[in-house]
Amino acid sequence: MPLTLKDLGLADPAYAFGGSYIMSLDAGTTSVRAVIFDEFGGVVAQASRPLTMYYPEPGWVEQDPTEILASMISAIVEVQFRSGIHSDSIAAVGISNQRETCVVWDRESGQPVYNAIGWQCRRTAREAQRLIDEGLGDTIRERCGLTPDAYFSATKIAWILDNVSGARELAEAGKLVFGTIDTWLIYNLTGGTVVATDYTNASRTMLFNIHTLDWDDELLRIFDIPRAMMPELKWSADDYGCVSAEIMTHTPPIAGVAGDQQASLFGHCCFNPGDTKNTYGTGCFMLMNTGDAVVDSHEGLLATVGIAEGGRVSYALEGSIFHAGSVMQWLRDGLGILGDVTDSSAIAKSQLDNRGCYLVPAFSGLGAPWWDSDARGIICGLTAAADRSTIVRAACESLAYQTYDVLRAMERDSGRTLEALSVDGGASRNEFIMQFQADILGIPVISTESVETTALGAAYLAGLSVGYWEDRDELLSNRTGGGRYEPLTGPEAEARRERNLAGWHDAVARARR
Ligand code: ADP
Repeated sequence: MPLTLKDLGLADPAYAFGGSYIMSLDAGTTSVRAVIFDEFGGVVAQASRPLTMYYPEPGWVEQDPTEILASMISAIVEVQFRSGIHSDSIAAVGISNQRETCVVWDRESGQPVYNAIGWQCRRTAREAQRLIDEGLGDTIRERCGLTPDAYFSATKIAWILDNVSGARELAEAGKLVFGTIDTWLIYNLTGGTVVATDYTNASRTMLFNIHTLDWDDELLRIFDIPRAMMPELKWSADDYGCVSAEIMTHTPPIAGVAGDQQASLFGHCCFNPGDTKNTYGTGCFMLMNTGDAVVDSHEGLLATVGIAEGGRVSYALEGSIFHAGSVMQWLRDGLGILGDVTDSSAIAKSQLDNRGCYLVPAFSGLGAPWWDSDARGIICGLTAAADRSTIVRAACESLAYQTYDVLRAMERDSGRTLEALSVDGGASRNEFIMQFQADILGIPVISTESVETTALGAAYLAGLSVGYWEDRDELLSNRTGGGRYEPLTGPEAEARRERNLAGWHDAVARARR
């Protein structure tokens, strides 16, 4: 009998591949990245490519699926050459991706029948409103945890089936495939052999029953989408086939997949009920792990699959804020009062307080917890003493106040009180905002050392799946401190917090008038 891999000490797939790194593919909205992580969760090398957005009509957003794929493959090639770490040293590949964006393609030829319809695309807003008007909101929400909106994939898929000639017949005959960006990448990276998605991505389609963890026949019927076109469902740490030799010579396995915000939740090690992370990017996305409980929100939040690893699902409450880091870009590009977004912290700090000035960035309405699409942005409380730093400070403070409102809504919905908030994303580098956030919340704010928390989460899922990391405890021990911001305490700090919040809520009320 020949010696087994185990006899040779090669039972661990990481060694079987000769590999001691994990490659994470982060397919974002505006760029794709390939990142190589070491066993301590450190970034060894990365390569990225920007993506083109198309706006064929006002409110419509599309991307070219072949550009997304080609850009990702070229990032995969570049990161290997840049680092000298080639596919024989990659133990597994993880994928995190922009969620909800939908691609429909031909199962045989692999050709998309239409562009990818982006998560921001509003072309199906009227259709989503019709479902609410017909009283289907509760049925939909009970099954998938989401309130009908054009944001989620279901109405986008239906739009393609209704508007691309012959698509519906082909879909019913099982000849078309629907996928979010993870599925599109998996299909192509595995040479067309695997058509699958993970539970976290599925939970953003509006077609997935978050209780039974299966595509929901009633939802498929409501949206008129044939089950034959739906991808296979898997855990986030699972076997998604191997990358084909054409793309990575030594064919490492794809073993971890999650939607970007859920990948970030995992990258933050928010494993326990109550653990919460907030990502300060263009917008803000806050997710709270709610454990086994699907929390039915009364506060304008969504229920979603948070973590699907280790044979059990942890659910999450999610709150989205539309404008966060983008407010800094508006100060720079729209108002022209900021040279660089990174100057904002020092400028805000140059003011002792906000002088009663508040900025509500309701540029496209307000998201959670208000969900008011008619609200519009305002700056209020200006006096002749106000100058550019007053406005910059008010803009910085607005990220913290918006986060406060979502966090308090989460606490009310979940019945939990938060002890600390984990943060990441570009604007989490702003020290003023993070300290102000801690002061307003009255709890510590903990930032990660790496801004790559999303990619790290997907790497962790892939690594756990192949035994590169043993368990979640090992991931916890990888955590290195970034910044920790302790809240100011005492009666004076308390009074200032109350005054600031009252001023902010008065400003929100004005923005909603
Ligand atoms: P996304 O993933 O949404 O593209 P990122 O996490 O890359 O976002 O963060 C980019 C956003 O963060 C931009 O909107 C930018 O204006 C903002 N940003 C970056 N650095 C800072 C900073 N130091 N202070 C405030 N905002 C910042």
